[in-house]
Amino acid sequence: MLTHLISADRCATCRLCCNFRRSSAWETPILTPELADLLRLRGLPLRSRSDGSITFSLHFPEHAPESFCANCPALNPDSGCTLPRELRPIECRLWPLRLMRISSGALVLGLYDACPALSPAVRKQMIREATGTLLPTLLRIADEQPGIVRPFHPAYSVIWQE
Ligand code: SF4
Ligand code: SF4
Repeated sequence: MLTHLISADRCATCRLCCNFRRSSAWETPILTPELADLLRLRGLPLRSRSDGSITFSLHFPEHAPESFCANCPALNPDSGCTLPRELRPIECRLWPLRLMRISSGALVLGLYDACPALSPAVRKQMIREATGTLLPTLLRIADEQPGIVRPFHPAYSVIWQE
């Protein structure tokens, strides 16, 4: 969605968004049922969470510590995400933005501060676009896919609040 600001090539060399500690496996992206069907056809391992949402299955060795990191099964460790853009989960397409709810219940838009692609100029432009022309689209996505609205996490700067 913001590939004119952060290129796929940049993400392919970073991959921070595409591997998950055992303790943060809850952060794997949520898939719509339609997308899940398409990804199953590509042979990707998926799992259902207790709330019914569908996501990628991660492989952790049996006695792996909580800090052990597993790659998303759609990741090629050498070249990055193997999925064409139209088959990427919406949360992946939004990164490093995330829709979240704070304790009051208000919807907020967060920007992941540790994203290495966020130079001061890119950060400034991303905030301008995300809180400007892109905001109606983000609000529609939050409305249509409420499951992707995550609890607030302090690793994100709040750049917009309803
Ligand atoms: S942290 Fe930033 S540069 Fe790294 S993969 Fe995520 S969006 Fe791309
Ligand atoms: S689907 Fe692609 S972009 Fe999303 S976490 Fe997996 S490898 Fe990364």
